Amino acid sequence: MSRKICPRCQNRKLYKVRRGKKRCKNCRYEWKPKIAGLRLTKAVWRKILFWFVLGHSLRIISAQTEVSHYSVEKAVGIARNIMVQDVPGVFSGTVEVDETYLGGQKKNKRKKQLRKELESRRGFGTTKQPVFGILTRQGKIFAKLVDDTEAGDLLPIITKKVKAGSRVCSDTWRAYTGLAAKGYVHRTIEHGEKEYVLGKNHINGLEGFWGYLKRKLAAKGGVKRKYLPLFLGEYVWRYNYRKLGVKLQTNRLFKKVIDFSG
Ligand SMILES: [Zn+2]
Repeated sequence: MSRKICPRCQNRKLYKVRRGKKRCKNCRYEWKPKIAGLRLTKAVWRKILFWFVLGHSLRIISAQTEVSHYSVEKAVGIARNIMVQDVPGVFSGTVEVDETYLGGQKKNKRKKQLRKELESRRGFGTTKQPVFGILTRQGKIFAKLVDDTEAGDLLPIITKKVKAGSRVCSDTWRAYTGLAAKGYVHRTIEHGEKEYVLGKNHINGLEGFWGYLKRKLAAKGGVKRKYLPLFLGEYVWRYNYRKLGVKLQTNRLFKKVIDFSG
């Protein structure tokens, strides 16, 4: 939180002094207020976010901004948390739903063997993590890590995230059979026929996003399971706001960093 009182004498009358610092009018104590929990000025925050949006590593961001690796890591962690929470509202119209597995191919992974792998609770890279996604025809995505890919795991997410009456396109996986009963116009696509599907009943958009997500995670050389929700959030956010460009993406994050500080 950015404090509006002197931390030493609790006086509320403060001067603004150079380099983003504040000085108490009463006891003359000087300090640098925190923004989103870090003692970085707005200008420095903006620079870190800019290099992060460009997709650079912590090492490069640290070199470019002359901020310690430790603070850059904290700042980027905060940015990822903001991204995780900056998700689109309820979807309507036509949406695609689909699931995939991170760290492996979808083929044959819907079997019991997968469950065993999950129970072993080893790091991402040795086990397969199911992830579920919903994509609108306007190109907005919502994605979530799930424990399993049965109806009980997926339908509650759809009913929460997609307005009843919407057209939902999926493959023929059994978890989706209950969609019509939940009040959706359900359209299914047979696997293997997707390339030939024309018109609006397709799930090509999500297939494209899964490819993007897997390439990004692979480029990182694998991500520990506990960090996977953060990285998923980051790439969903980047995908959702890809049309904004670097400057507006940076502005969007920066505004939320400031809001976060109260
Ligand atoms: Zn004071």
